[in-house]
Amino acid sequence: MSWSREVARRLGAGSGTVERWSVAPGEITARAGGHEVSLIRAVPTEEAWGRVCAALASQEVFRARVLAGELPVPVGEVCALLGVDLVPRGWDALVATCSCDRWDGVCAHLRAVAGVLGTEADRDPFTLTRWAGRDRLALRSQVMAEGAIKGPSTSEETVGDNVSEAKIEDGDDRFEHAPNSAAGFWSAPMPPGPPEIPSGAGDRVRTAAPGAVADELPPFGPLRT
Ligand SMILES: [Zn+2]
Repeated sequence: MSWSREVARRLGAGSGTVERWSVAPGEITARAGGHEVSLIRAVPTEEAWGRVCAALASQEVFRARVLAGELPVPVGEVCALLGVDLVPRGWDALVATCSCDRWDGVCAHLRAVAGVLGTEADRDPFTLTRWAGRDRLALRSQVMAEGAIKGPSTSEETVGDNVSEAKIEDGDDRFEHAPNSAAGFWSAPMPPGPPEIPSGAGDRVRTAAPGAVADELPPFGPLRT
């Protein structure tokens, strides 16, 4: 799987002469077939990038690649999962304009620019992150910073939780990690609460099956934290 294939799948891949190729956060501009082309995309929020960088920092397999200046397609899938599409999902996700003023569809010039985007993304995938608001250096340093703030280990948090345990209402504060942190993202969401079981159900089971496995069961009731 290559980036150009991803781009072609979502935006197509035309060909043609493209000059003055320029990528800035939020906008790609170029001259294609003598026409001025602009591809504007939404730049993900700081919060969304924070989630992405925290997630990448928390997984050694991704962190190492990003810090080494690589951006394989699976990293893009992690980004998409967290709300940052490095390759826009389609022309509908873009404001695409061309000076040829062909409004009834995507003109050949736009398609040619999409073709170049694929080629450029294969050559330097950080073309895509730059367009989405984070160039290579910014992304790298943010991933590095997130990794330094909070590694995969959660032992410090456990200590902190024990100290403040008395203050936590039963079952109330279920997310022990900050929502923006790597650990917060990678920890599985809490399952839904236990079903309502009438009080004394455990005792009734024990009475119905004395001496059976039921004796080994803990009493039914609300989850204890
Ligand atoms: Zn055009």
